[in-house]
Amino acid sequence: MFALVDCNSFYASCERVFRPDLQGRPVLVLSNNDGCVIAGSAEARALGIRTGVPLFQVRELIHKHGIAVFSSNYTLYGDLSRRVMATLGSLVPHVEKYSIDEAFLDLSMVPEGQLQRLGAELRERVKRWVGLPVCVGIAPTKTLAKLANHYAKQQEAGVEVWTSSDHWQARLAQTPVGNIWGVGRRLAARLAALEVHNGADMAALESGWVRRHFSVVQERMIRELNGEACLSMELCPPPRQQVIHSRSFGQPVVSLPPLRQAISDYTARAAEKMRTEGLLATRISVWLRTSPMGKPQQLWPDTLSTGLCQASADTRELVAKALQLLDQLWKPGLRYGKAGVMLTELCSREFSQGGLFEDRQSQRGQALMAVMDSINQSGKGRVWLAGRGMKGANECVWSMRRAHLSPAYTTRVSDLPRVW
Ligand SMILES: [Mg+2]
Repeated sequence: MFALVDCNSFYASCERVFRPDLQGRPVLVLSNNDGCVIAGSAEARALGIRTGVPLFQVRELIHKHGIAVFSSNYTLYGDLSRRVMATLGSLVPHVEKYSIDEAFLDLSMVPEGQLQRLGAELRERVKRWVGLPVCVGIAPTKTLAKLANHYAKQQEAGVEVWTSSDHWQARLAQTPVGNIWGVGRRLAARLAALEVHNGADMAALESGWVRRHFSVVQERMIRELNGEACLSMELCPPPRQQVIHSRSFGQPVVSLPPLRQAISDYTARAAEKMRTEGLLATRISVWLRTSPMGKPQQLWPDTLSTGLCQASADTRELVAKALQLLDQLWKPGLRYGKAGVMLTELCSREFSQGGLFEDRQSQRGQALMAVMDSINQSGKGRVWLAGRGMKGANECVWSMRRAHLSPAYTTRVSDLPRVW
């Protein structure tokens, strides 16, 4: 048996954890640069606000209904997500994090009679320990657990347990194929042409026929819908292929110096991330996008990449390469709205190929990076390369607009909530 635990309206719920006054009030969370709505609470959805809608289109509703609006605070969401996963792990040993707000649990050792109780306990514990509401779907396959979770959201108890096909047959019949895990728009259209409209139609397809006409992936889906588990728990996440840091600018950027600062900052962050994961990169790419508001649009390649002689996670080396690429990419007169840095061809520091001429220089570089990281992680201050500019990362021309940002309640000492 598998459980799929999913946080209800995750981003909006995170914003409420330290703001009990927002309980029952509609809450919206905005995209980077506060452009569009990317998430909302149930109350906000009930007002007809859909994700993706530009902020200016709902200003009137916000005012009229006293909606609380937040810039996205990924530091907070990431930390609360980590806490949810750890809390689930305190009750069930095998937890597979599926996304920032969802996890599969392996319940194969749990007696059938205790599943409902365990589901309730998972909910209660996450609510009590982290402060977030979750729903739990339990079924013999991952695909069915995912669907059971969808229906758990409609229950007062927030838990839906399916142990035999009697439990899921009726639900499958009322589920459009497009709502089944793994069925995208294109597959749904192909199925519709075959008169397969709901989950029950799909489960009734003959699996051998599906493998011949579609693929083994879809065949597995059919088996899963019939209660035969084909997808197992993935307890070790696959090794990382790339580290990306990219951001939209708070306003279009025309001149080169602020772009160089932004690229230095993004590269430094990507390098820092690699070091915390014990990785090195052998390739670096930089890209620029023109602002969608500005003309003319860019007509030439907007991405460049280059290899490194030797795998590295040294901020200084990577920034130097990134800036060379940027200088080739930048064209005067264009208004840039977004930039990014990507590190690829990663290998772990342990197993990396040493260089023939590797010398004390690179050992000293590693030591320097370790000192920088320890200062930056100490919470007492930050050090960075001067190329990023002297201002804090939130005060530059290229910084994101985040006018409605909530505090980093759980990760910054000065933002700790006070209890009077
Ligand atoms: Mg969710």
